[in-house]
Amino acid sequence: MAACCCIRARRPAIIDLPAGFSLREVPEGILLTCEGSCERHTRPLACRVFPLALTWADNRPRVLPDPRAWPLCPLMPSGIRGLRQDFVEKARQAAELLTAHPRQRAFLELQQRLLTAFTQIPWQEGD
Ligand code: SF4
Repeated sequence: MAACCCIRARRPAIIDLPAGFSLREVPEGILLTCEGSCERHTRPLACRVFPLALTWADNRPRVLPDPRAWPLCPLMPSGIRGLRQDFVEKARQAAELLTAHPRQRAFLELQQRLLTAFTQIPWQEGD
């Protein structure tokens, strides 16, 4: 099972999930998980932009290399400039579109905090 994305909301009424995906309750909300393989057209957005992450910080949408990708993605050492720039631009457009909606913006803001905490050096004071 691979964790895909966490929905910080009440259990949605009914979601017609593609085969291989399921929802389960976790302390942070409801987690969308997959079985580790999927059909390309059913991939969640987080997987489509991987190894990038979409966030909201400093009052604007952000696209950055996802630090959680280091163990998985051989492209990480080349940074965002090493990726196809049309791919990066599409990710930016997705972030712009998503952050136009307050709930999506709140989720991407949370994502930014999660990634900041993920890259925090343990002995450094957090904010
Ligand atoms: S690409 Fe598909 S199989 Fe891989 S983590 Fe995402 S949803 Fe799961």
